[in-house]
Amino acid sequence: MLNPLDLFSPSYEVARRRFRDAARAAGATLEQHPVDTGEAGGDLTIDVATVGGREPSWAVVVSSGVHGVEGFFGSAIQLAWLSGQTAGEPPPGDGAVVLIHAVNPYGFARLRRTNEQNVDLNRNFLDTADAYTGAPDGYETLDPFLNPASPPSPFEPFRLKALWHIRRHGLPALKDAVAGGQYRFPRGLFFGGHGPASSTRIMRQHLAGWLGGAPRAMHVDLHSGLGAHGRYRLLLEESAPSPNVEWYRDTFGSDVVEPLATAGGTSYAATGTLGGWALTHLGDTRYRFVCAEVGTHSILRVLGALRAENRAHVFGRPGSGAHQRAKAELLECFCPRSDRWRARVIEQGLAIIERAVRSQRIG
Ligand SMILES: [Zn+2]
Repeated sequence: MLNPLDLFSPSYEVARRRFRDAARAAGATLEQHPVDTGEAGGDLTIDVATVGGREPSWAVVVSSGVHGVEGFFGSAIQLAWLSGQTAGEPPPGDGAVVLIHAVNPYGFARLRRTNEQNVDLNRNFLDTADAYTGAPDGYETLDPFLNPASPPSPFEPFRLKALWHIRRHGLPALKDAVAGGQYRFPRGLFFGGHGPASSTRIMRQHLAGWLGGAPRAMHVDLHSGLGAHGRYRLLLEESAPSPNVEWYRDTFGSDVVEPLATAGGTSYAATGTLGGWALTHLGDTRYRFVCAEVGTHSILRVLGALRAENRAHVFGRPGSGAHQRAKAELLECFCPRSDRWRARVIEQGLAIIERAVRSQRIG
C-alpha cells in the first residue's frame, strides 16, 4: 500500500483522477454521474467504483464527500482501500464493495461544506416538498451571530461572542439551533435546501441499483469535523435500546457506537439525512448504516471556520487574502495537515471498512 500521507490529494480534480485510476487498477467497474451545478464547465461528478461480483450476496457501501470539503479525508480512505486491493488484499468474494466518491463534488472542489446552492446535503434527503420549511427554535435569534452580512475580519472577537451565546443559551441549545438543519435562511449555515439537490436526486435514483440486488448491505458514510481530535465515533440513525443497536455494538465495538439520542434527549434529531433516507427506502435490502465521524479541532474552532468561510463565500472577494485564509482554515478543520492525524484516520477508516465487510460476509 501507498504511504498513508500520499493518499491525501491536493484538489478535487486530483482526488477524482486518482480514485478512477485506482478503481481501474483494482478491476472495479466505474460509473460517473455529473452533478448539475448550474454553472458551465468543470467536471464535477459523483464517481462510483464497484469491486466484486455481479449478483453479490452482500454489499458494503463507502461514501465520501457528502459534506464537500470533508471529501479530502474520505477520498483518501477510499483510495487506501482500492490500493490495498491492487496490492493483494483479499477481494470481496461473493460480495461487493461499492465506493461512492464525492457525493458533493462542488463543495469538494471549492472548499465548502455545502453544495452549489449552499445546501447541507445531509439535511436535504426529505420525502415531501413541504418538509423543506422551518428552522429550529433559536436559529433566528442566532442568525445575526452565525451569518453576519459582511466579509470575515481577523479582528473580530468570534470566540468571545460564541462563548457569550453559550453562556446565555447553553451549548446544547446552540447545537440544536445550528446542527439540526434549517430551511429558512438560504445563505445561512446548516441550510437544508428548498427541494432535493442534484446530488440528492442522483443518490436516490441510483443507490438501490448500485447494491446489485444484494439482500443485505452495510453503508459507511465518511465524515470529519465533530468529536475529539483523531478519534472516531459511529453515529447511528437508530436509538437504543434495540437489537439493531446491539448488532452495531457487537460489530464495531460498543465504545465507538453512538445511538441516536431518544426523543426528549439532550442531543438534536437532524432531519433529511442520507442515512435516514436509505434506511426507510431500501426496504428490499437489510440495510445497515453508520455515519463515521472523525474529530479534528474543537467545536468552537470548527464553527468559527464554517462561519468565516460562509461570510467569505457570500460577501468576500475570491482571491483576496481574507477569502484564502477562510478556505485554508476550513480545510484544516475538516482535514488537518498533521501527519499523525492523517496516518491515524487512514488506519481507522480501513479498520471500519474491514469490520463492515466481515459483518456482511458472516450474514
Ligand atoms: Zn460531515
